[in-house]
Amino acid sequence: MGWDVNIDICALIIMCVLVVLQLSKHYMSIRRSFVFLIMLISQALAILCFVVGRSLFLYGGVQPNTFLNLIADAFYVLQYLVPLLFMHYMVVWSGRSVWEHKATAVLFIIPIVIMAFGLIVNAFTHWAYTWTLDRGFEDDTGVIILMAVTVYCIIYGVVYAGIFVRKLAFSKLVGVAVIALAIIVVMIWQYGSVMSNYVNFLIAIGMLVLYIVAQNQADMIDHNTQVLNRSILDERMRNHIKNKKRFDLIVLAMDDFKFVNKTFGVTAGDMMLMQVARFLTTVSLRGKVYRYGADQFALEISPGDIGLEKAIKVIQERFRHPWITEDVSVMLSATISCVSYPNDATSIANIIDVVDYSVLSAKAKGKGAVVYASDLNLHNLRKEKAIEKAVEHAMKNDTFEVHYQPIFNTEKQCYTSAEALVRLRDDMLGNIPPDVFIPIAERNGTIVKLGMMIFEKVCKFITSANLRETSIEYIEVNVSVVQCMQKNFVEDLLAIMEKYQVTPDQINLEVTETAAANSLAILQENIEKLHAKGISFSLDDYGSGYSTLGYIHQLPFRIIKLDRLMVWDAFANERAGITLKYTVGMLKELKVRIVAEGVETEEQQSRLEGIGCDYLQGWYYSKAVPENDFLDMIQKAS
Ligand code: C2E
Ligand code: CA
Ligand code: CA
Repeated sequence: MGWDVNIDICALIIMCVLVVLQLSKHYMSIRRSFVFLIMLISQALAILCFVVGRSLFLYGGVQPNTFLNLIADAFYVLQYLVPLLFMHYMVVWSGRSVWEHKATAVLFIIPIVIMAFGLIVNAFTHWAYTWTLDRGFEDDTGVIILMAVTVYCIIYGVVYAGIFVRKLAFSKLVGVAVIALAIIVVMIWQYGSVMSNYVNFLIAIGMLVLYIVAQNQADMIDHNTQVLNRSILDERMRNHIKNKKRFDLIVLAMDDFKFVNKTFGVTAGDMMLMQVARFLTTVSLRGKVYRYGADQFALEISPGDIGLEKAIKVIQERFRHPWITEDVSVMLSATISCVSYPNDATSIANIIDVVDYSVLSAKAKGKGAVVYASDLNLHNLRKEKAIEKAVEHAMKNDTFEVHYQPIFNTEKQCYTSAEALVRLRDDMLGNIPPDVFIPIAERNGTIVKLGMMIFEKVCKFITSANLRETSIEYIEVNVSVVQCMQKNFVEDLLAIMEKYQVTPDQINLEVTETAAANSLAILQENIEKLHAKGISFSLDDYGSGYSTLGYIHQLPFRIIKLDRLMVWDAFANERAGITLKYTVGMLKELKVRIVAEGVETEEQQSRLEGIGCDYLQGWYYSKAVPENDFLDMIQKAS
């Protein structure tokens, strides 16, 4: 059987269409798209050489001369460049450098070296092909090496994508793998067979699949505003950082955009955003515009372009005029935050933190404010991030400790309970007080897991120390309101208690009043559920600011803990003393038990006992101490 030129011409047409499509995209400048374009061009030219070379020989009567051999050589170079480019494409896409590990680097280099060697040898000896009368130039034994490397590259690329390209949906990966497998099979099957040449066509289909799967416009562009999306921003920043290329980000955060949406409707709101986005693309010639958040855009400016100051001027000027859609005309305003790499931040996570922090600072300054990250005191942000890390580290390595502070029962004249207080020691930061790291853990959500770890430690201690045999009736455990609002909060607590055979009367949960003040129905529901199971609650830090009488009425608190500042005030100031006395009287009428916190002196102890506090807690008795010290203490006291 001879050679069917039509199939190769079809392949060539597909390749040309792909090249044109790819060239017409305005997001060309991400590196992955560039590699993809080179791959397409390389493959298109390879097929062109193939068709021209064979046609000249078979139909044009040209004998294999230097020129014809040159065309054949070019075909092999271009054709076998494609698998290398494919491998490179997958690596660029993943954003994971192959040079990070010796093994991946070696595995990456070997095929390139072999391929280069094979192709150079081929240029001199033509060992990859021979000329046959019925099919023109045809693969010879030398090509087996090139084919083997091709198979290797395809597998490397697919595996790399499977492992590192997390954005790639599994179904899409399967699509790429199937077509890759088909190419491999047909390539091997076709070698030495007299069948027509299907490989070029299949490769063209493969490129088409890759175009749809990996170069899909919808995955790169925000469909509402038609600018690049966040994942492309991440990808580009990663590349810049890798290449140590400076850039500036201007983040535009719309002010009160919710108001626009509410007043004019979401459709008009979307139109406005679209207009802002379109305007931003005109601010600088080479700048890239991204949708950064729901009502936020980022403009990336590279060195040598318009420059920060000028760009900001242009933006501010535009915002002095209304934005007009079909039927509304609105004055909009936006804050502007500027972050520069590498001056303000040096890693992707860092840049994003600094951007978010700058946007918050700009918002705090007021509508239309401009903030340069370089003017901000990033110290607080860095400290917070360092503490976040320390908390994560301690959670991973389970290095948190729980200390216990005894609580004195004035009626029984002994310790009948204790408060569990978490302690964190970090190698770098030293002791980090809980009132520093707990709010941070609350902000980023780690408190949910951390809280459960603390609770588990407490339950374990209650059982292993056999507290039931001591004077200690129950342990007070602080729970953050963020925890209380979790759906599974009740089930998780009960499961841990069951695991350690701790009974509800051995646990009391402390909730702070500040946090409780902004609570939701779930909080109330959870508290009531646990209360129904026999677990009691304390209202912590009573009198430290917010009015909580409403809460005392609504939620079933068994204990109220008077904030230590309120207690101390009562001794420094006569009127505060009277307030405290009547507060205690009122709470007693409400039939709740009272703990006075911050008891530091004998005078405080006797007066607080005198006005009727049921429990006293403070350094007068003991600070919070480690488990064993605590056990020793209650042993001695009884
Ligand atoms: P809190 O719940 O009001 O805990 C009482 C704090 O007062 C503790 O500080 C305790 O060491 C301190 N304290 C006790 N007696 C005295 C005294 O006589 N004088 C003075 N000056 N201080 C006294 P700590 O351990 O630093 O905890 C601070 C806050 O961190 C706690 O306030 C609580 O809100 C939070 N916290 C501590 N452990 C946990 C925990 O396991 N989970 C949660 N969610 N929050 C915790
Ligand atoms: Ca407490
Ligand atoms: Ca307290």
